[in-house]
Amino acid sequence: MSQNSIFLKIKSGEIPGKIVFEDDQCFAIEDINPQAPVHVLIIPNKEIAKVSDSEESDKKLLGHLLLVSKKIADKYNLNDNYRLVINNGADAGQSVFHIHVHLLGGRGLTWPPG
Ligand code: AMP
Repeated sequence: MSQNSIFLKIKSGEIPGKIVFEDDQCFAIEDINPQAPVHVLIIPNKEIAKVSDSEESDKKLLGHLLLVSKKIADKYNLNDNYRLVINNGADAGQSVFHIHVHLLGGRGLTWPPG
């Protein structure tokens, strides 16, 4: 498994970034180009490129990312109003190929997204 996604470089301190949460399975950073007052990325330590590359054995890890997202939303006082997004594939807007959950909140959000 390679260990060199841009997110892992932030985790290791190789490049700057604001880490707001870490545990034994994942970490979270503030997005460099925020689309909402709160825009945090929740990222597994395991470098899976995208959801469609995940396997049955990743079930607990993927579930963990959602529970951590909830914890971070509470930390940012989002009062149970936020959006979780996972882009899968370039045509769906994915630009960093290391699975991450976007946590967006702090403003009203419309649907459908662009
Ligand atoms: P996606 O397009 O779904 O793959 O999301 C990738 C996200 O990573 C985008 O929202 C970018 O703004 C964000 N991003 C890219 N580089 C960095 C960085 N160095 N630090 C923090 N966020 C980043």
